[in-house]
Amino acid sequence: MKIAVVGGGPAGLRAAEVAAAQGATVDLYEAKPSVGRKLLVAGRGGLNLTHGEAIEGFIARYSGPGQPEGFWNRALEKLSPEQLREWAAGLGIETFQQRTGRVYPREMKAAPLLRRWVERLKAMGVSFHSKHRLIQILPSSPLRLRFEAQADEVSADAVILALGGGSWSITGSDGTWVTMLQELGIEVNPLRPANCGWETTWPQEVLDAAEGSPLKNLRVRAGGVKVKGELMVTSYGLEGGTIYQLGSVLRAMDQPAIEIDFKPEATAEDLARKMESVRGDIITACRERWKLTKAAHAILTNGMSIETPLEILCSRAKACPIRLSGPRPIDEAISSAGGVCWSEIDDKLMLRKLPGIFVAGEMIDWEAPTGGYLMQGCFATGQLAAEGALILSDC
Ligand SMILES: Cc1cc2nc3c(=O)[nH]c(=O)nc-3n(C[C@H](O)[C@H](O)[C@H](O)COP(=O)(O)OP(=O)(O)OC[C@H]3O[C@@H](n4cnc5c(N)ncnc54)[C@H](O)[C@@H]3O)c2cc1C
Repeated sequence: MKIAVVGGGPAGLRAAEVAAAQGATVDLYEAKPSVGRKLLVAGRGGLNLTHGEAIEGFIARYSGPGQPEGFWNRALEKLSPEQLREWAAGLGIETFQQRTGRVYPREMKAAPLLRRWVERLKAMGVSFHSKHRLIQILPSSPLRLRFEAQADEVSADAVILALGGGSWSITGSDGTWVTMLQELGIEVNPLRPANCGWETTWPQEVLDAAEGSPLKNLRVRAGGVKVKGELMVTSYGLEGGTIYQLGSVLRAMDQPAIEIDFKPEATAEDLARKMESVRGDIITACRERWKLTKAAHAILTNGMSIETPLEILCSRAKACPIRLSGPRPIDEAISSAGGVCWSEIDDKLMLRKLPGIFVAGEMIDWEAPTGGYLMQGCFATGQLAAEGALILSDC
């Protein structure tokens, strides 16, 4: 069995590992001079490998149009978060779970893990072909692949595509595969930024007071969904896990907007009571009375004047509306939504219209919040695709 894996991110590397462990001849093709570039970028702020959340909650983190019922249950049964930690331990990478549930390598970085993984894959017989950008798939039997600037075609019994999403194109995941698959009749939903910052149209005086500051202990609402957490104010708007979690809701809104509850533990009446003895400028006084940071105060009182009635100020503190002018560009996003439509894929992640060609990782139309869910999803789909390719060879 000759398996060609294209794309050397976590999904492709895992697919190569599973296929090689079962005795397949595995060739891994990667457009960049080296594999795992996005994995290394992910490790810069600490590689969040997976999450310790119970499996029901874990599975509920994954979404995507037409995602088959029970898919992630099956995928995580094949490779659970615990098994992923054991896998890392097998490479000599000890992991630990934070109080938040996020799981990291003890050394935090991705480089030692990637180095040892690639060494092990080579020892298992996986042949690496860097600077091989796939430009065409010929769905013949055997399947044939053409690479940019390579005279020779490559043939394989099965092909696993793990070409990534569309963010951080410098790492190689530039989404150019979309056209290649569409030309073969595969339906692909447009790649869009997920887990990304959102732009606001705050005036300079708000930015002067708030830029670079975290907004803590908030409840943020959008389209009926509430998330507790923090936001970071940037020169263009808002970043942070809380707004990332609302990404799919915001993308579905004609006029994306959030409401911030700056004081989730208090009611509007509680807030009004704290202001009872204030005589005069309630806009200035509320900062101290409600213990607001300079940034939170600037955002809350944006556009208000000393004539603003107390009830309006209190209700704004509980639901401060913020219009968002749009997401940041996809290239800056941590991940992308969109990708190969689920209707194109069978339960083994094989393209129904192109037998023998499998897909894995972020290039499939699923999304998940930050927290280790992305990495876990890429590893698990890489494993499923490889198992599918191996079953094909038995047939
Ligand atoms: C800043 C940042 C931080 C992140 N932190 C985390 C984190 O802590 N935890 C987490 O779970 N996730 C994190 N992620 C997301 C995670 O890195 C991705 O979801 C994951 O790497 C996707 O894996 P993949 O294998 O599907 O694709 P990728 O890792 O994107 O790999 C795809 C590979 O395919 C190659 N390729 C593309 N087109 C071709 C072609 N035509 N021919 C040949 N090769 C091709 C690319 O060069 C690339 O190497 C982070 C992402 C970013 C940008």
